[in-house]
Amino acid sequence: MSSPPIAVAPTAMEAAAARIRAMLEAQRAAFLRAGAPALQARRADLQKLADAVRRNTNRLAAAISADFGNRSRHETELAEVFPVLASIRHARRHLARWMRPKRVSVGIELMPARARILYQPVGVVGIISPWNYPFQLAVMPLVAALAAGNRVMLKPSELTPRTAEFLAGLLAGLFPAEQITTVLGDAEVGAAFARLPFDHLFFTGSTAVGRKVMQAAAENLTPVTLELGGKSPCIVADDAALPEAVASIMHGKLLNAGQTCVAPDYVLLPKHRLEEFVALAVATTQKFYPTLAANPDYTSIVDDRHCRRLAQYAAEAKAGGTRVVEIDPNRGARPDTRKIAPTLLIEPPDNLLVMREEIFGPVLPIKTYHGLNEAIDYINARPRPLALYYFGADRGKRDEVLRRTISGGAAVNATLFQFAVERLPFGGIGASGLGAYHGEFGFQTFSHRKGVFLQSRIDLTRLLRPPFGRVVNLMLKFLNR
Ligand code: NAD
Repeated sequence: MSSPPIAVAPTAMEAAAARIRAMLEAQRAAFLRAGAPALQARRADLQKLADAVRRNTNRLAAAISADFGNRSRHETELAEVFPVLASIRHARRHLARWMRPKRVSVGIELMPARARILYQPVGVVGIISPWNYPFQLAVMPLVAALAAGNRVMLKPSELTPRTAEFLAGLLAGLFPAEQITTVLGDAEVGAAFARLPFDHLFFTGSTAVGRKVMQAAAENLTPVTLELGGKSPCIVADDAALPEAVASIMHGKLLNAGQTCVAPDYVLLPKHRLEEFVALAVATTQKFYPTLAANPDYTSIVDDRHCRRLAQYAAEAKAGGTRVVEIDPNRGARPDTRKIAPTLLIEPPDNLLVMREEIFGPVLPIKTYHGLNEAIDYINARPRPLALYYFGADRGKRDEVLRRTISGGAAVNATLFQFAVERLPFGGIGASGLGAYHGEFGFQTFSHRKGVFLQSRIDLTRLLRPPFGRVVNLMLKFLNR
């Protein structure tokens, strides 16, 4: 006698997964009903978002700062609000041109037919975002997806919960859930999210999680964009103007206390310039941040786990005999503020953790090289970085470094600012990512490029049909000339 089936109640996670799947189905049904939004509707949506961001900057800055412990208000305005508003301005200005079907030549062989590329929204896009710029890295992909006419489901990071709540509230107040929805939750929710059959999945985060996201997306053949991390090197050449180079490197390193995907991770420097570099780095840092603990300009580390991870880098280096320079002007980097003093590690061996992992904090290893070839070989022996920075005056050497290294992006005599140019593609390569966005590249990432062939009334291709004879032979002579 068989026993009756036992009804098993779904776990909380299964129920959550079912809820987010229902959201996706609702968005997809709405997309199929309404079709691609017109230019004016997209521009209006973007304007609505920009206005709300401007109105809510205070609330946003407070939420991020509460999440971090302290997040510099100026950094939030410069690195979260400005890029979002700039990307909206740029998209609104150029969207008509981006959306316009592009005529392309069919080639002499198929004349007088015509051909064009149509840009269509793909449908429903999933966006998974990290905590380090918890607003900007969620909203910039959202802007690109909206500009391309898609509906969006957003899963922000659980490490910045107040910002995630703020975002969810802001977006729910502006857009119907069938157009934009926010899903709050941790890594497990993220994993369930990544398993959904989106039309495109856009992930920003670590390389390790990026790998899992791509595996999950493969099950549905969902195309992915992966904006990942890694160790971005900074080459200082023999002829670099050191004071400017050091100021730019320390600024890039200490913005958001180093918790920046395109922060310079480590420096490669000619040996004879080492002591000058260290002295300048200490002086520059003290000028940027005369104090640390009570200084609102110096951002905290996001949580205790990351504090411990960063402290371990310096501890392991010290234990192994590496020279460690802690730039702690007022001895005020108290652990209760989660502020870690800017720290230089001089000539750390490559087996240390700090040289194997992405640092993501205010710790700067400095290694010396003999000859540019050695620096290039060092970079090329490692995973392809998201950014590469070069400081030097000679254009020939600069071009050689750019030609012989492969990185997501690069900046010369500067750090970070390749990110701020809407007309440059932003994205990694290899371990630092797949695909790109910003400006028109973002629009294209979230659009399907449909190739359309339009036959003319004068259709010469009919001459290619069987039965084959003299005419086809003549045509073939021409085609295969
Ligand atoms: P993370 O990979 O730990 O988390 C990112 C997001 O993924 C979070 O929302 C998290 O909840 C979610 N998640 C976790 N496990 C998941 C899973 N199995 N499936 C789906 N989603 C999952 O990254 P993080 O610590 O938040 O961010 C720091 C990393 O992000 C660094 O490596 C940094 O370099 C990188 N980053 C890259 C860029 C870029 O533009 N390329 C920008 C910022 C940060």
